Amino acid sequence: MKTFTLDHATSTKSALDALETGARPIAGGTNLVDLMKLQIATPDKLVSIRRAGLDRIAADGTGLSIGAMVTNADCAADERVRQKWPLLAKAILAGASPQLRNRATTGGNLCQRTRCGYFYDTTQDCNKRDPGSGCAARKGFNRIHAVLGTSDACIATYPGDMAVALLALDAVVLTQGPLGLRQIPLCVFHRMPGDDALRDNVLGPGELITSVRLPAPTGGVQLYRKVRDRASYAFALVSVALDLAMEQGRIARCALAFGSLGTVPWRDRAVEEVLTGEKPSPQLFAKAAEVLLKDARGFGGNDFKIPLAARALAATLGEATHSAKA
Ligand code: SF4
Repeated sequence: MKTFTLDHATSTKSALDALETGARPIAGGTNLVDLMKLQIATPDKLVSIRRAGLDRIAADGTGLSIGAMVTNADCAADERVRQKWPLLAKAILAGASPQLRNRATTGGNLCQRTRCGYFYDTTQDCNKRDPGSGCAARKGFNRIHAVLGTSDACIATYPGDMAVALLALDAVVLTQGPLGLRQIPLCVFHRMPGDDALRDNVLGPGELITSVRLPAPTGGVQLYRKVRDRASYAFALVSVALDLAMEQGRIARCALAFGSLGTVPWRDRAVEEVLTGEKPSPQLFAKAAEVLLKDARGFGGNDFKIPLAARALAATLGEATHSAKA
């Protein structure tokens, strides 16, 4: 590992001051330290934000504010989250391991890098690590890669679970930086690769996530279905986050987000429009999947994700509409 200095911020201001000098923030370190060991990330200076006062969950008017340093374990265990936004607790508990969830944080989780194997192998071509070098995954082992939102530059997925739930719950990311305060809806926080695979999100230089805000709870049926190679400690092949309400036998409202399907946590309002106001049926679920996957493209090893996503969507909708009626 390359030599670096480590400072500890004791407030948001001291963290921002350190970022202005070129320091990189470190929260739980569950991804960044791995990247540093492999010399994929080589910061000269780190500033830890563990003691910066960003570790609180607070009721905020009708919604909830979750500090950037709230650990995944604390967030999933919070009674308000469990009662009113169970989708978030379910998605967090579907991810990683208890040890990692004790360390990983709300802000860090949103900023985690892809798990594409070629990104972590410095002998391979990777536009995300080394812009302009190429993408070894396109013709390589791409079983876990994206089928939506890909580009010639990169086909890697955003790998997490928490952000998928937050996307369905209309979360907003609050940041501070040289340009002041920003409120960034999660639906525009992550970036698709386009011509530039290097940047995964819209954070600017010196900008720090301070919290994530959830709007008022919907009271709907909330489910998180994660399809993966083994039952624990595995990234999703496809995941579905759903918040749904029924009225008089019809879907009155639904919010749907998908993980490990696109290059970013994926939400397509057209899918929700197809479902809203309709009576649940296998035909309706198939139509929703058709809309979701109309532009999906596999790269050989990940072709199976397209039918898998359709089945995962139908199963999740079937379970939610059934329990909403019960
Ligand atoms: Fe790199 Fe993206 Fe290609 Fe993976 S998919 S090798 S991260 S450019």
